[in-house]
Amino acid sequence: MAGLVVIGAGQAALQLAMSLRAAGDSREITLIGDEPYAPYSRPPLSKSFLKGDTQVDDLFFRPPGWFSDNGVALHTGQRASAIDPARRIVRLPDRDLPYDTLVLATGARPRSLADLPATLGNVATLRGIDDIRNLLDLLPSCERVAVIGGGFIGLEFAAVMRGTGRSVTLVEAAPRLMGRAVSPGLSDWFAALHRRNGVDLRLATGVTGVERQGDRVAALALSDGTRLATDLVLVGVGVLPNDDLARAAGLPCDNGIVVTETLRTAEPRIFAIGDCAAFPLRDGRRVRLESVQNAVDQAKHLARVLQGDTAPYAATPWFWSDQYEVKLQIAGLLPAGADAAIIADTTGFSLDHVVGGLLACRESVNDPRAHLQARKTVGRPAISPVGTT
Ligand code: FAD
Ligand code: NAP
Repeated sequence: MAGLVVIGAGQAALQLAMSLRAAGDSREITLIGDEPYAPYSRPPLSKSFLKGDTQVDDLFFRPPGWFSDNGVALHTGQRASAIDPARRIVRLPDRDLPYDTLVLATGARPRSLADLPATLGNVATLRGIDDIRNLLDLLPSCERVAVIGGGFIGLEFAAVMRGTGRSVTLVEAAPRLMGRAVSPGLSDWFAALHRRNGVDLRLATGVTGVERQGDRVAALALSDGTRLATDLVLVGVGVLPNDDLARAAGLPCDNGIVVTETLRTAEPRIFAIGDCAAFPLRDGRRVRLESVQNAVDQAKHLARVLQGDTAPYAATPWFWSDQYEVKLQIAGLLPAGADAAIIADTTGFSLDHVVGGLLACRESVNDPRAHLQARKTVGRPAISPVGTT
């Protein structure tokens, strides 16, 4: 019998299965995941797990028995290679799997740099359990760490590495850190935090050359004219949505799989959620968000849609990051042009970005109460492309 098939067995896929079962939905559910693991939590990989404070078993959202107990068929280590919307089948390595309803929850994959492929012995990316195992194998022989990319991955990795006493140089192409996620003032605050903690931060700097020794990187040439000798290169330069199956099936994609406000693709029986989905905000702009909140809330919303709800998806986005003893939390989406905030260099503060009299976004640093309040009060994501702060 064909039922609901979900491609991807990550955060969004599991949440969808849990929400459907919690709502008493008894349809057949099959999760297809290409990693050899049951659904697990990625955030600890660049935080507590990297520090050694979390074990692999702690990462899994549900124990193995949960899937059979709840009638959810979980197939791990199986990559879906094609979908055929006309015949309503998913192609797996050993068979064609029919579906009534298909959900693409395929997530995203790290972007790579042509000169620094992960095939080199000491070049690494960080997305999943296999990546972190590779990194943990490499680290004992690494004292000098080069981090490429000053986004969430790069900064969290740099913070943990400094905690272990390694020397860390972080190279960011843009003139500021976390440029897509935080306001310029907060970027400066985090730059000062990392410098205080001993990170050699190179902003507005690129990698111009790679010096190899066998299959390893011995040093990087940087655009500031320096040579950076290194034992390990962590590439954290963003992710690309896994939208290739959708593209090949003729579904519209534009920085992710294009979905409607009810998370439906151009094919009525196919939906997309999580990191891979490009969805409309209330103001008509289309975004793709890469966060736990987005994966979880879209999965919960889709569970309601599959049960007949026609309400548009409109959850308030929020994000967090842990760096040293600092917890950064963001509620809402940062409006464009948000740069006028004044920052006091203390522990515990929040920055409000107000557009048209409405709270569009609050950035909080060690200020969890203010963050939680903002999650309730921030306007729905109807943000003017040109905001004032
Ligand atoms: P994923 O969890 O990526 O799941 C997608 C799954 O689909 C993957 O297992 C993938 O391999 C599989 N797949 C893809 N294609 C196929 C195919 N053809 N066939 C079968 N399977 C396929 N977010 C936060 O909000 N806060 C944080 O602090 C935070 N920290 C993070 C730290 C790290 C190291 C990483 C990597 C991410 C972090 N994130 C954080 C982001 C968050 O984990 C993601 O946004 C979230 O996992 C997205 O869930 P998803 O289900 O959309 O995708
Ligand atoms: P990211 O946050 O997009 O940051 C990537 C950074 O690398 C950007 O600042 C980018 O600058 C920069 N960059 C791009 N090309 C570069 C180059 N050639 N040289 C130097 N710098 C370059 O992505 P990420 O840090 O790699 O994180 C990957 C994924 O994990 C994302 O989905 C992220 O949301 C998720 N994650 C989330 C958290 C969290 O929410 N706390 C924590 C860890 C990971 P430009 O923007 O100018 O291109």
